Amino acid sequence: MASKMKISCKMCRREGVSLCGKDHCALKRRHFPPGVHGPKYLKHRPRLSGYGLQLREKQKAKRLYGILEKQFVRYVEEASSRKGNTAEFLVQVLESRLDNVIYRLGLGKTRRQARQMVSHGFIMVNGKSVDIPSFRVQIGDEIKIKDSKIQKGVTKENLDGIQKHETPKWLSFDSTTTTGKITAIPEGEDLRQVFDPTLIVEFYSR
Ligand code: ZN
Repeated sequence: MASKMKISCKMCRREGVSLCGKDHCALKRRHFPPGVHGPKYLKHRPRLSGYGLQLREKQKAKRLYGILEKQFVRYVEEASSRKGNTAEFLVQVLESRLDNVIYRLGLGKTRRQARQMVSHGFIMVNGKSVDIPSFRVQIGDEIKIKDSKIQKGVTKENLDGIQKHETPKWLSFDSTTTTGKITAIPEGEDLRQVFDPTLIVEFYSR
């Protein structure tokens, strides 16, 4: 399946930010790029050129969301075709993926787990089963894990831990009905990312 992309902590270490979403990310222990030349970066970080910087930001974003180049290009094209702030649109498009929303709601512990929950048919949107991780949510959409999938395992564990989870302002979660809702379009600080979307837009407009 083309949407499969394995996130290993090598990538976290390459980009210098945790992309895996794991509690025990290897970046915490080894805060330098992988490989034999990695440790020297602690003393001397190579200065990247404009292109190099833009490329790194693009890779970071792709890996964070687990998206392959082809789909990522489509997102950039879509954002560019709209009038206004392309960088902002790009982040909004990325954030509105169903797998990301599952992660943001705390229903999945990592984006990878969230994606699996979607593709394995655990998720309902507005009462209908949706198994496409890239499915685009809209304001008003209601997201729920199927009752039959809650009994045990990770879904139960994640639901139990959801009170400690910080839900972004554009989403809400009702723990009595275990239903998440899209209440707004992410804006302002909810668009803040570990990557700079402006550099990504620059990369593709070269
Ligand atoms: Zn990691």
